[in-house]
Amino acid sequence: MRTFLIAGNWKMNAAPGEAKILAEEITGLWKGQTFTSEALLCPPFISIPAVAAAFQGTPFKVGAQNVHTENDGAYTGEISTSMLKDAGCEYVIVGHSERREYFHESDELVARKAKKVIDDRLKAIVCVGEVLSERKEGIHEDVVRRQVDAVLSHLGEDLSDNLVIAYEPVWAIGTGETATPEQAQEMHHFIRELIKGHWGEARSAKVRILYGGSMKPDNAGELLSQPDVDGGLIGGASLKAGSYSEILKISETV
Ligand code: PEP
Repeated sequence: MRTFLIAGNWKMNAAPGEAKILAEEITGLWKGQTFTSEALLCPPFISIPAVAAAFQGTPFKVGAQNVHTENDGAYTGEISTSMLKDAGCEYVIVGHSERREYFHESDELVARKAKKVIDDRLKAIVCVGEVLSERKEGIHEDVVRRQVDAVLSHLGEDLSDNLVIAYEPVWAIGTGETATPEQAQEMHHFIRELIKGHWGEARSAKVRILYGGSMKPDNAGELLSQPDVDGGLIGGASLKAGSYSEILKISETV
């Protein structure tokens, strides 16, 4: 049986006070109940300690949305893996399309970040996905192959246990438009085959591939039912305790 990863990305939302309230609302909805999926929330850096404190003694996990590739030093405004671990993080999202677009993160930099995260015993959620014009041109698989290959060629297969890939078609992020379950499955299968090409069948089966792009309670069931969809990376819907919790609940029934 698959263990889904239901990951929320709060982006630049939820200051420490709001984050504490939201985290407590989420845990409050699950008080006295257990679940088998892995539940993760990734607040802005400054809100990580508040969320980690609210999650103490619960199964909910906290992660970060970005990281730097160096250990420490003169990198004004940056955060290292050891700082994230110290603050209680278990996962780090790298290469989100917003970071690729607005902060010009290249495939090479995303790959180096993923390696740093995993080398330092955190888990990396590496985001890949095409923009609308690339899908319209029919080159979406070429784009995703380039992004996935860049990461896999930087990692040894022994690091595969701590790698998660999130397929996020950029045209579906924050737009309300979702990939159809068939489109998601097709790309997730394609990514699984790419991993198999690098590391073989057994390891490819173990790498979780999340879908991201306007996942909501309404569409989560169909998306999570696809054989190669191992969870969700959820933006907007993770900012409401009720909708995040609903998606987590759905993952328990698929
Ligand atoms: C995201 O930013 O990773 C995302 C999937 O956002 P949304 O769910 O709002 O589309």
